[in-house]
Amino acid sequence: MPFQPGRRLPGERASKIGHLEVLDNPLVQTLCRQLKDRQVDSVTSAALWDPLAISGGPLSIVFSVDGSYQIIQNEMPPYCARAFIKTALLRLDQYALQHIDRETPHPFALRDMLKDSAMHHATVFPLRHVEVAGKTLYDAIREIIFTSLKDDVLLESQPYETLKWIVYHKWNPAAQRGLPEFECPHCRWSRATLPYDADTGACAECGKTMLLTDMLGFHQEMAEDSAPDTVASSYMAIHETLMLFTGIRYFWEGNRQILANCLFIKDGPLSIRAQYSKLVGPIRQFIEHANAAGSPVYIIGQEKSGTFFDHLTLIRDHAPSPACFIPDDAYIKQQIQNRPNQGAPYGLDTNYGAKVFLKLNPYHSMVINVPTGTHRPNPTAADLIGFDRILATLPTILSNRYEGALMPVEMANGVASLSTYPSARILRMFAERP
Ligand SMILES: [Zn+2]
Repeated sequence: MPFQPGRRLPGERASKIGHLEVLDNPLVQTLCRQLKDRQVDSVTSAALWDPLAISGGPLSIVFSVDGSYQIIQNEMPPYCARAFIKTALLRLDQYALQHIDRETPHPFALRDMLKDSAMHHATVFPLRHVEVAGKTLYDAIREIIFTSLKDDVLLESQPYETLKWIVYHKWNPAAQRGLPEFECPHCRWSRATLPYDADTGACAECGKTMLLTDMLGFHQEMAEDSAPDTVASSYMAIHETLMLFTGIRYFWEGNRQILANCLFIKDGPLSIRAQYSKLVGPIRQFIEHANAAGSPVYIIGQEKSGTFFDHLTLIRDHAPSPACFIPDDAYIKQQIQNRPNQGAPYGLDTNYGAKVFLKLNPYHSMVINVPTGTHRPNPTAADLIGFDRILATLPTILSNRYEGALMPVEMANGVASLSTYPSARILRMFAERP
Protein backbone atom coordinates (compact mmCIF):
# COMPACT_ATOMS: atom_id res chain seq x y z
CA MET A 1 0.00 0.00 0.00
CA PRO A 2 1.44 3.42 -0.93
CA PHE A 3 1.43 6.33 1.53
CA GLN A 4 -1.71 8.47 1.29
CA PRO A 5 -1.47 12.15 0.30
CA GLY A 6 -1.28 14.53 3.27
CA ARG A 7 -2.12 18.21 3.71
CA ARG A 8 1.29 19.48 2.50
CA LEU A 9 2.83 16.65 0.50
CA PRO A 10 1.44 14.46 -2.30
CA GLY A 11 0.85 10.74 -1.85
CA GLU A 12 3.31 8.02 -2.83
CA ARG A 13 3.00 6.80 -6.43
CA ALA A 14 3.54 3.21 -7.52
CA SER A 15 6.69 2.77 -9.62
CA LYS A 16 6.04 1.95 -13.30
CA ILE A 17 9.65 0.68 -13.75
CA GLY A 18 8.76 -2.21 -11.40
CA HIS A 19 6.56 -3.73 -14.17
CA LEU A 20 9.62 -4.48 -16.31
CA GLU A 21 11.25 -6.64 -13.63
CA VAL A 22 8.11 -8.75 -13.31
CA LEU A 23 7.81 -9.29 -17.07
CA ASP A 24 11.50 -10.26 -17.39
CA ASN A 25 11.25 -12.83 -14.61
CA PRO A 26 11.70 -16.35 -16.15
CA LEU A 27 9.15 -17.98 -13.83
CA VAL A 28 6.53 -15.37 -14.75
CA GLN A 29 7.28 -15.91 -18.43
CA THR A 30 6.92 -19.72 -18.11
CA LEU A 31 3.65 -19.38 -16.18
CA CYS A 32 2.19 -16.81 -18.58
CA ARG A 33 2.68 -19.27 -21.46
CA GLN A 34 0.55 -21.81 -19.52
CA LEU A 35 -2.34 -19.45 -18.75
CA LYS A 36 -5.19 -19.50 -21.25
CA ASP A 37 -8.43 -17.51 -21.19
CA ARG A 38 -11.40 -19.76 -20.45
CA GLN A 39 -13.62 -20.74 -23.37
CA VAL A 40 -16.58 -23.10 -23.69
CA ASP A 41 -16.59 -25.02 -26.99
CA SER A 42 -19.56 -24.65 -29.32
CA VAL A 43 -20.88 -28.21 -28.86
CA THR A 44 -20.87 -27.99 -25.05
CA SER A 45 -22.45 -24.53 -24.95
CA ALA A 46 -25.15 -25.30 -27.56
CA ALA A 47 -26.17 -28.44 -25.63
CA LEU A 48 -26.99 -26.41 -22.50
CA TRP A 49 -29.89 -24.57 -24.11
CA ASP A 50 -33.51 -25.67 -24.55
CA PRO A 51 -35.50 -24.21 -27.44
CA LEU A 52 -38.47 -22.10 -26.32
CA ALA A 53 -41.98 -21.90 -27.69
CA ILE A 54 -43.38 -18.52 -26.73
CA SER A 55 -47.12 -18.95 -26.40
CA GLY A 56 -48.58 -16.76 -23.59
CA GLY A 57 -50.09 -13.31 -24.02
CA PRO A 58 -47.90 -10.30 -23.18
CA LEU A 59 -48.51 -8.36 -19.95
CA SER A 60 -49.78 -4.86 -20.63
CA ILE A 61 -48.36 -2.83 -17.70
CA VAL A 62 -44.70 -2.85 -16.73
CA PHE A 63 -43.25 -1.57 -13.46
CA SER A 64 -39.54 -1.11 -13.11
CA VAL A 65 -37.49 -0.19 -10.05
CA ASP A 66 -33.96 1.08 -9.67
CA GLY A 67 -31.83 3.02 -7.22
CA SER A 68 -28.51 4.78 -6.87
CA TYR A 69 -26.37 6.22 -4.13
CA GLN A 70 -23.49 8.61 -4.00
CA ILE A 71 -20.98 9.01 -1.19
CA ILE A 72 -19.96 12.64 -0.88
CA GLN A 73 -16.71 12.90 1.03
CA ASN A 74 -14.74 16.08 1.84
CA GLU A 75 -11.44 16.17 0.05
CA MET A 76 -9.47 17.19 3.18
CA PRO A 77 -8.92 15.14 6.34
CA PRO A 78 -10.82 14.02 8.32
CA TYR A 79 -12.84 13.23 5.16
CA CYS A 80 -16.36 13.88 6.48
CA ALA A 81 -18.71 11.61 4.53
CA ARG A 82 -22.42 11.60 3.75
CA ALA A 83 -24.40 9.21 1.55
CA PHE A 84 -27.20 10.41 -0.72
CA ILE A 85 -29.59 7.67 -1.80
CA LYS A 86 -32.34 7.67 -4.38
CA THR A 87 -34.77 5.04 -5.60
CA ALA A 88 -37.52 5.19 -8.21
CA LEU A 89 -40.45 3.11 -9.39
CA LEU A 90 -41.59 3.63 -12.94
CA ARG A 91 -44.86 2.58 -14.58
CA LEU A 92 -45.15 2.06 -18.32
CA ASP A 93 -48.07 0.69 -20.29
CA GLN A 94 -47.96 -0.88 -23.74
CA TYR A 95 -49.35 2.33 -25.28
CA ALA A 96 -46.44 4.34 -23.90
CA LEU A 97 -43.95 1.62 -24.78
CA GLN A 98 -45.13 1.54 -28.38
CA HIS A 99 -44.65 5.27 -28.73
CA ILE A 100 -41.05 5.47 -27.55
CA ASP A 101 -38.35 5.46 -30.16
CA ARG A 102 -36.29 2.39 -29.26
CA GLU A 103 -33.09 3.64 -30.84
CA THR A 104 -32.98 7.32 -29.91
CA PRO A 105 -35.78 8.21 -27.50
CA HIS A 106 -36.45 11.93 -27.44
CA PRO A 107 -35.48 13.35 -24.03
CA PHE A 108 -38.51 15.68 -23.84
CA ALA A 109 -40.92 12.88 -24.75
CA LEU A 110 -39.36 10.78 -22.01
CA ARG A 111 -39.55 13.62 -19.52
CA ASP A 112 -43.26 14.22 -20.18
CA MET A 113 -44.00 10.55 -19.89
CA LEU A 114 -42.02 10.12 -16.67
CA LYS A 115 -43.59 13.16 -15.01
CA ASP A 116 -46.77 11.29 -14.19
CA SER A 117 -45.50 7.76 -14.05
CA ALA A 118 -42.52 7.74 -11.69
CA MET A 119 -42.38 7.62 -7.89
CA HIS A 120 -39.21 8.81 -6.16
CA HIS A 121 -37.64 8.37 -2.78
CA ALA A 122 -34.53 10.12 -1.50
CA THR A 123 -32.66 10.35 1.77
CA VAL A 124 -29.23 11.14 3.20
CA PHE A 125 -27.14 9.36 5.86
CA PRO A 126 -24.21 10.75 7.86
CA LEU A 127 -21.42 8.16 7.52
CA ARG A 128 -18.22 9.49 9.09
CA HIS A 129 -17.05 12.57 11.03
CA VAL A 130 -20.48 14.19 10.81
CA GLU A 131 -22.20 15.34 14.00
CA VAL A 132 -25.88 14.81 14.70
CA ALA A 133 -27.08 16.89 17.68
CA GLY A 134 -26.93 14.90 20.90
CA LYS A 135 -26.77 11.47 19.25
CA THR A 136 -24.22 8.91 18.34
CA LEU A 137 -23.99 8.32 14.62
CA TYR A 138 -25.19 4.77 15.28
CA ASP A 139 -28.50 5.95 16.77
CA ALA A 140 -28.81 8.79 14.26
CA ILE A 141 -28.65 6.42 11.28
CA ARG A 142 -31.07 3.98 12.91
CA GLU A 143 -33.57 6.81 13.38
CA ILE A 144 -33.01 8.23 9.88
CA ILE A 145 -33.72 4.80 8.38
CA PHE A 146 -36.94 4.55 10.40
CA THR A 147 -38.20 8.06 9.60
CA SER A 148 -37.06 7.90 5.94
CA LEU A 149 -39.48 5.03 5.53
CA LYS A 150 -42.22 5.90 8.00
CA ASP A 151 -42.48 9.67 7.43
CA ASP A 152 -41.96 9.75 3.68
CA VAL A 153 -44.59 12.39 2.84
CA LEU A 154 -44.11 12.18 -0.94
CA LEU A 155 -44.82 8.45 -0.97
CA GLU A 156 -47.42 8.65 1.83
CA SER A 157 -45.33 6.12 3.81
CA GLN A 158 -46.31 3.40 1.37
CA PRO A 159 -42.89 1.63 1.32
CA TYR A 160 -43.06 1.49 5.14
CA GLU A 161 -46.55 -0.05 5.01
CA THR A 162 -45.12 -2.54 2.51
CA LEU A 163 -42.32 -3.46 4.93
CA LYS A 164 -44.96 -4.18 7.59
CA TRP A 165 -47.05 -6.07 5.05
CA ILE A 166 -44.08 -8.31 4.28
CA VAL A 167 -42.59 -8.90 7.72
CA TYR A 168 -45.95 -9.30 9.52
CA HIS A 169 -47.36 -11.48 6.68
CA LYS A 170 -50.29 -9.09 6.29
CA TRP A 171 -51.14 -10.66 2.94
CA ASN A 172 -52.41 -13.57 5.04
CA PRO A 173 -54.65 -11.96 7.71
CA ALA A 174 -55.12 -15.28 9.49
CA ALA A 175 -51.42 -15.41 10.39
CA GLN A 176 -51.27 -12.38 12.79
CA ARG A 177 -47.66 -13.15 13.51
CA GLY A 178 -45.00 -11.10 15.34
CA LEU A 179 -41.49 -10.60 14.06
CA PRO A 180 -38.92 -13.38 13.97
CA GLU A 181 -36.22 -12.78 16.60
CA PHE A 182 -33.52 -10.22 15.82
CA GLU A 183 -30.55 -8.71 17.62
CA CYS A 184 -31.44 -5.78 19.97
CA PRO A 185 -29.51 -2.71 18.70
CA HIS A 186 -28.73 -1.61 22.30
CA CYS A 187 -27.64 -4.61 24.34
CA ARG A 188 -26.64 -6.53 21.19
CA TRP A 189 -26.87 -9.96 22.79
CA SER A 190 -30.57 -10.36 23.55
CA ARG A 191 -32.91 -11.87 20.99
CA ALA A 192 -35.61 -9.22 20.56
CA THR A 193 -38.97 -9.21 18.80
CA LEU A 194 -42.00 -6.96 18.23
CA PRO A 195 -45.67 -8.01 18.43
CA TYR A 196 -47.92 -8.07 15.34
CA ASP A 197 -48.23 -4.69 13.57
CA ALA A 198 -46.04 -2.78 16.08
CA ASP A 199 -43.89 0.15 14.88
CA THR A 200 -41.73 0.33 18.00
CA GLY A 201 -41.32 -1.61 21.23
CA ALA A 202 -39.07 -2.09 24.28
CA CYS A 203 -36.33 -4.71 24.50
CA ALA A 204 -37.26 -7.33 27.11
CA GLU A 205 -33.64 -7.39 28.32
CA CYS A 206 -32.48 -3.73 28.44
CA GLY A 207 -35.84 -1.92 28.19
CA LYS A 208 -34.63 0.49 25.50
CA THR A 209 -36.70 1.43 22.46
CA MET A 210 -36.40 -0.66 19.34
CA LEU A 211 -37.67 0.44 15.94
CA LEU A 212 -39.36 -1.84 13.42
CA THR A 213 -36.53 -1.16 10.97
CA ASP A 214 -34.01 -2.48 13.53
CA MET A 215 -35.20 -5.97 12.62
CA LEU A 216 -33.44 -5.57 9.27
CA GLY A 217 -30.07 -5.38 11.06
CA PHE A 218 -28.43 -2.21 9.67
CA HIS A 219 -26.87 -1.72 13.12
CA GLN A 220 -24.90 -4.94 12.66
CA GLU A 221 -22.83 -3.13 10.01
CA MET A 222 -22.18 0.03 12.07
CA ALA A 223 -19.87 1.23 14.83
CA GLU A 224 -20.84 3.91 17.42
CA ASP A 225 -19.43 6.83 15.46
CA SER A 226 -19.02 5.69 11.90
CA ALA A 227 -20.80 3.61 9.33
CA PRO A 228 -19.37 1.92 6.22
CA ASP A 229 -20.54 2.84 2.73
CA THR A 230 -22.33 -0.53 2.58
CA VAL A 231 -25.05 0.85 4.89
CA ALA A 232 -26.03 3.12 1.99
CA SER A 233 -25.95 0.34 -0.62
CA SER A 234 -27.89 -2.00 1.69
CA TYR A 235 -30.56 0.64 2.34
CA MET A 236 -30.85 1.28 -1.39
CA ALA A 237 -31.27 -2.46 -2.11
CA ILE A 238 -33.91 -2.84 0.62
CA HIS A 239 -35.76 0.26 -0.54
CA GLU A 240 -35.80 -0.90 -4.16
CA THR A 241 -37.38 -4.15 -3.00
CA LEU A 242 -39.96 -2.25 -0.94
CA MET A 243 -40.80 0.03 -3.90
CA LEU A 244 -41.35 -3.00 -6.13
CA PHE A 245 -43.56 -4.72 -3.58
CA THR A 246 -45.48 -1.48 -2.93
CA GLY A 247 -46.77 -1.79 -6.49
CA ILE A 248 -47.56 -5.47 -5.96
CA ARG A 249 -49.31 -4.85 -2.61
CA TYR A 250 -51.36 -1.98 -4.07
CA PHE A 251 -52.94 -4.19 -6.71
CA TRP A 252 -53.06 -7.28 -4.48
CA GLU A 253 -55.22 -5.36 -2.02
CA GLY A 254 -57.14 -3.23 -4.52
CA ASN A 255 -57.47 -4.92 -7.88
CA ARG A 256 -56.08 -8.36 -8.63
CA GLN A 257 -57.36 -8.21 -12.21
CA ILE A 258 -54.85 -5.45 -12.92
CA LEU A 259 -52.15 -7.38 -11.04
CA ALA A 260 -52.75 -10.23 -13.49
CA ASN A 261 -51.58 -7.91 -16.28
CA CYS A 262 -48.47 -6.43 -14.65
CA LEU A 263 -44.81 -7.31 -15.00
CA PHE A 264 -42.55 -6.09 -12.17
CA ILE A 265 -38.89 -5.67 -13.05
CA LYS A 266 -36.01 -5.14 -10.66
CA ASP A 267 -32.65 -3.98 -11.95
CA GLY A 268 -30.31 -6.59 -10.47
CA PRO A 269 -30.81 -10.06 -8.97
CA LEU A 270 -33.84 -11.08 -6.92
CA SER A 271 -31.76 -11.57 -3.80
CA ILE A 272 -31.17 -9.88 -0.48
CA ARG A 273 -27.78 -10.37 1.12
CA ALA A 274 -26.52 -11.10 4.64
CA GLN A 275 -28.69 -10.20 7.67
CA TYR A 276 -31.21 -8.42 5.40
CA SER A 277 -32.15 -11.79 3.91
CA LYS A 278 -34.80 -12.03 6.68
CA LEU A 279 -37.10 -10.51 4.07
CA VAL A 280 -36.53 -13.39 1.65
CA GLY A 281 -38.57 -15.99 3.60
CA PRO A 282 -41.80 -13.94 3.76
CA ILE A 283 -41.38 -12.72 0.15
CA ARG A 284 -41.11 -16.33 -1.08
CA GLN A 285 -44.10 -17.31 1.04
CA PHE A 286 -46.19 -14.47 -0.40
CA ILE A 287 -45.27 -15.40 -3.98
CA GLU A 288 -46.14 -19.05 -3.27
CA HIS A 289 -49.40 -18.02 -1.53
CA ALA A 290 -50.46 -15.76 -4.44
CA ASN A 291 -49.69 -18.46 -7.00
CA ALA A 292 -51.64 -21.08 -5.05
CA ALA A 293 -54.57 -18.63 -4.77
CA GLY A 294 -54.68 -18.35 -8.58
CA SER A 295 -53.20 -14.82 -8.68
CA PRO A 296 -49.61 -15.37 -9.83
CA VAL A 297 -47.39 -12.31 -9.57
CA TYR A 298 -45.08 -11.73 -12.54
CA ILE A 299 -41.65 -10.57 -11.33
CA ILE A 300 -38.20 -10.64 -12.86
CA GLY A 301 -34.78 -9.31 -11.91
CA GLN A 302 -32.28 -8.53 -14.65
CA GLU A 303 -28.56 -9.07 -13.99
CA LYS A 304 -26.42 -6.80 -16.13
CA SER A 305 -23.11 -7.56 -14.44
CA GLY A 306 -21.53 -10.14 -12.13
CA THR A 307 -20.53 -13.80 -12.47
CA PHE A 308 -23.78 -14.97 -14.07
CA PHE A 309 -23.64 -12.22 -16.68
CA ASP A 310 -19.97 -13.03 -17.38
CA HIS A 311 -20.96 -16.68 -17.82
CA LEU A 312 -23.64 -15.69 -20.34
CA THR A 313 -20.95 -14.15 -22.53
CA LEU A 314 -19.13 -17.53 -22.50
CA ILE A 315 -22.11 -19.64 -23.57
CA ARG A 316 -24.43 -17.44 -25.66
CA ASP A 317 -22.76 -17.38 -29.05
CA HIS A 318 -23.62 -20.93 -30.09
CA ALA A 319 -27.09 -21.00 -28.55
CA PRO A 320 -30.18 -21.32 -30.75
CA SER A 321 -32.89 -18.69 -30.33
CA PRO A 322 -35.31 -18.35 -28.76
CA ALA A 323 -33.89 -20.62 -26.07
CA CYS A 324 -33.31 -20.74 -22.34
CA PHE A 325 -30.87 -22.42 -19.98
CA ILE A 326 -31.80 -22.84 -16.31
CA PRO A 327 -28.65 -23.97 -14.45
CA ASP A 328 -29.03 -26.47 -11.61
CA ASP A 329 -27.27 -26.26 -8.25
CA ALA A 330 -24.24 -28.35 -9.31
CA TYR A 331 -23.73 -26.32 -12.51
CA ILE A 332 -23.92 -23.02 -10.63
CA LYS A 333 -21.37 -24.11 -8.04
CA GLN A 334 -18.91 -25.85 -10.38
CA GLN A 335 -19.16 -23.94 -13.66
CA ILE A 336 -20.22 -20.45 -12.60
CA GLN A 337 -18.82 -20.03 -9.10
CA ASN A 338 -15.85 -22.38 -9.74
CA ARG A 339 -16.11 -24.10 -6.35
CA PRO A 340 -16.71 -27.68 -5.17
CA ASN A 341 -20.27 -29.02 -5.30
CA GLN A 342 -20.69 -29.05 -1.51
CA GLY A 343 -22.62 -27.32 1.24
CA ALA A 344 -26.07 -25.74 1.29
CA PRO A 345 -27.89 -25.27 -2.04
CA TYR A 346 -26.95 -22.05 -3.85
CA GLY A 347 -29.13 -19.10 -2.78
CA LEU A 348 -31.01 -21.06 -0.09
CA ASP A 349 -31.15 -18.11 2.33
CA THR A 350 -30.76 -15.11 0.06
CA ASN A 351 -32.51 -15.59 -3.30
CA TYR A 352 -36.19 -15.37 -4.22
CA GLY A 353 -35.66 -15.96 -7.93
CA ALA A 354 -34.05 -18.72 -9.99
CA LYS A 355 -31.30 -17.81 -12.46
CA VAL A 356 -32.32 -18.07 -16.11
CA PHE A 357 -30.14 -17.51 -19.18
CA LEU A 358 -32.26 -16.34 -22.11
CA LYS A 359 -31.52 -15.83 -25.77
CA LEU A 360 -34.53 -14.21 -27.40
CA ASN A 361 -33.01 -13.61 -30.84
CA PRO A 362 -29.50 -13.50 -32.29
CA TYR A 363 -28.96 -9.97 -30.90
CA HIS A 364 -30.62 -10.12 -27.49
CA SER A 365 -29.52 -12.44 -24.71
CA MET A 366 -29.77 -11.77 -20.98
CA VAL A 367 -29.69 -13.17 -17.45
CA ILE A 368 -32.97 -12.85 -15.61
CA ASN A 369 -34.22 -14.14 -12.25
CA VAL A 370 -37.73 -15.56 -11.99
CA PRO A 371 -39.37 -16.49 -8.66
CA THR A 372 -40.35 -20.09 -7.96
CA GLY A 373 -42.13 -19.42 -4.63
CA THR A 374 -40.60 -22.06 -2.38
CA HIS A 375 -36.83 -22.36 -2.95
CA ARG A 376 -35.94 -24.96 -5.58
CA PRO A 377 -32.26 -25.84 -5.94
CA ASN A 378 -32.79 -27.45 -9.36
CA PRO A 379 -35.65 -25.54 -10.97
CA THR A 380 -37.23 -26.36 -14.32
CA ALA A 381 -39.15 -24.02 -16.64
CA ALA A 382 -42.41 -25.32 -15.13
CA ASP A 383 -41.31 -24.07 -11.67
CA LEU A 384 -40.82 -20.47 -12.86
CA ILE A 385 -43.96 -18.54 -11.92
CA GLY A 386 -45.65 -16.98 -14.94
CA PHE A 387 -42.72 -17.80 -17.22
CA ASP A 388 -44.82 -18.10 -20.40
CA ARG A 389 -46.35 -14.63 -19.99
CA ILE A 390 -43.00 -13.13 -18.97
CA LEU A 391 -41.45 -14.61 -22.14
CA ALA A 392 -44.24 -13.16 -24.26
CA THR A 393 -43.71 -9.70 -22.70
CA LEU A 394 -39.92 -9.44 -22.99
CA PRO A 395 -39.83 -9.05 -26.81
CA THR A 396 -42.24 -6.09 -26.48
CA ILE A 397 -39.94 -4.18 -24.13
CA LEU A 398 -36.53 -4.79 -25.70
CA SER A 399 -34.42 -1.73 -26.28
CA ASN A 400 -32.31 -1.35 -29.39
CA ARG A 401 -29.74 0.83 -27.69
CA TYR A 402 -27.83 -1.92 -25.87
CA GLU A 403 -27.55 -5.68 -26.29
CA GLY A 404 -30.01 -7.50 -24.04
CA ALA A 405 -31.35 -4.21 -22.65
CA LEU A 406 -34.94 -3.77 -21.49
CA MET A 407 -36.44 -0.34 -22.04
CA PRO A 408 -38.17 -0.06 -18.64
CA VAL A 409 -34.88 -0.90 -16.87
CA GLU A 410 -33.01 1.66 -18.94
CA MET A 411 -35.61 4.31 -18.18
CA ALA A 412 -35.81 3.54 -14.44
CA ASN A 413 -32.05 3.77 -14.41
CA GLY A 414 -32.26 7.28 -15.85
CA VAL A 415 -34.89 8.32 -13.30
CA ALA A 416 -33.03 6.88 -10.30
CA SER A 417 -29.56 7.96 -11.32
CA LEU A 418 -27.82 10.48 -9.08
CA SER A 419 -24.65 10.87 -11.12
CA THR A 420 -26.20 12.27 -14.30
CA TYR A 421 -28.49 14.90 -12.81
CA PRO A 422 -28.78 16.98 -10.64
CA SER A 423 -25.09 16.08 -10.61
CA ALA A 424 -22.81 15.11 -7.81
CA ARG A 425 -21.47 18.68 -7.67
CA ILE A 426 -24.77 20.08 -6.48
CA LEU A 427 -24.99 17.37 -3.81
CA ARG A 428 -21.48 18.27 -2.70
CA MET A 429 -22.39 21.95 -2.37
CA PHE A 430 -25.38 20.93 -0.33
CA ALA A 431 -23.31 18.66 1.91
CA GLU A 432 -20.70 21.35 2.55
CA ARG A 433 -23.13 24.15 3.38
CA PRO A 434 -22.38 25.31 6.98
ZN1 LIG B 1 -31.74 -4.72 24.50
